[in-house]
Amino acid sequence: MTYGFDTLQVHAGARPDPATGARQTPIYQTTAYVFRDADHAAALFNLQEVGFIYSRLTNPTVSVLQERIATLEGGAGAVCCSSGHGAQIMALFPLMGPGKNVVSSTRLYGGTVTQFSQTIKRFGWSAKFVDTDDLDAVKAAIDDDTRALFCESIANPGGYVSDLDALAKIADEAGIPLIVDNTSATPYLCRPIEHGATLVIHSTTKYLTGNGTVTGGAIVDSGKFNWSNGKFPSLSDAEPAYHGLKFHETFGHLAFTFHSIAVGLRDLGMTMNPQAAHYTLLGIETLSLRMDKHVANAVKVANWLEDHDAVEKVTYAGLKSSPYVDRVAKICPKGAGAIFTIALKGGYGSCVKLVDSLELFSHVANLGDARSLVIHSASTTHRQLSEEQQIAAGAAPNVVRLSIGIEDPDDLIADLEQALAKAG
Ligand SMILES: *Cc1c(COP(=O)(O)O)cnc(C)c1O
Repeated sequence: MTYGFDTLQVHAGARPDPATGARQTPIYQTTAYVFRDADHAAALFNLQEVGFIYSRLTNPTVSVLQERIATLEGGAGAVCCSSGHGAQIMALFPLMGPGKNVVSSTRLYGGTVTQFSQTIKRFGWSAKFVDTDDLDAVKAAIDDDTRALFCESIANPGGYVSDLDALAKIADEAGIPLIVDNTSATPYLCRPIEHGATLVIHSTTKYLTGNGTVTGGAIVDSGKFNWSNGKFPSLSDAEPAYHGLKFHETFGHLAFTFHSIAVGLRDLGMTMNPQAAHYTLLGIETLSLRMDKHVANAVKVANWLEDHDAVEKVTYAGLKSSPYVDRVAKICPKGAGAIFTIALKGGYGSCVKLVDSLELFSHVANLGDARSLVIHSASTTHRQLSEEQQIAAGAAPNVVRLSIGIEDPDDLIADLEQALAKAG
């Protein structure tokens, strides 16, 4: 029997607890698991038998979440980890090596720009940033040392949707995986694997958990990529730390997932804890209900803002005025998410006054919460950048980012109306 999305978001990966019959997935708050005997322990350590050894690698509560996210994304397997940024490193880790590069979209979450342009250099990796709407530039940027193409489905801070099918085709021709950060869309609005993505990553901190309680990340593998094309020795060649085991040959379409647990989590230790998995499992149960409401609210609020005198421009792919209307219909037909930016005619000063005058919106460095959130990037997250860099990142001094929650839309509009009046 195949179930629909609303059924799978409640049930996938979970079954009544075999020991107690508990209907909700228990929080297995344990570090270690008792081996049946010495042979059982040896088989687990040799990866000849799948089971639980130690919670840095696997935990039953986290396993349910992994199966649920993999199912919702239509992937072969998934690995959860401690944060979205952890998921990005964990996704690149089996692919990269000193001297290797990732070709990445310029339209990214601010923290990802920093991680890719600065921090990964410490591993000898590098990123080449390109405008992913310029497909010739994407092709030109890929060289013999490129090991992945990276983009966001609906790019933070909003207003942009990636042409996943076109990018997947380029990656495929180059023999490299397309990695898609699907955080802003969630698998309810966009299923990147159906558009050719190899790996889908998430900051589960955002909509999947949905209420701003815990940080987490996930990497979903489509199970469709040929890791034995000569570019990915970590997955195709003998692994000395497992007596010469070859992950792709041994685990087939689950090679990436097994490697991420057996080597990635074992040695990098970016593990999700069972409490976090529990909160995220609770959140996912209502994902489709919340996303429909987030999108409906965002469309209503964005349309209202577009007509407001103090507003110069609303940048949101969910508006009829967006240049990405056709792409939304193809990539995320149920909606373009609920994060967007507004540019104010009054400039930097008006933005700061707006943020300080809003009462229902919370001024925080987060998004994808049930609550509506606001941030003025130029005075906070993008403060270190030059004005030119701020503009390139979609965070010009007169731009405010909104993450629309699931409150009554009329209350959100009323709050914006009183705050815009004060902002001048
Ligand atoms: C928040 C976010 C991240 C980073 O995730 P954390 O859980 O904060 O580490 C990465 N990508 C996108 C699109 C995000 O919104």
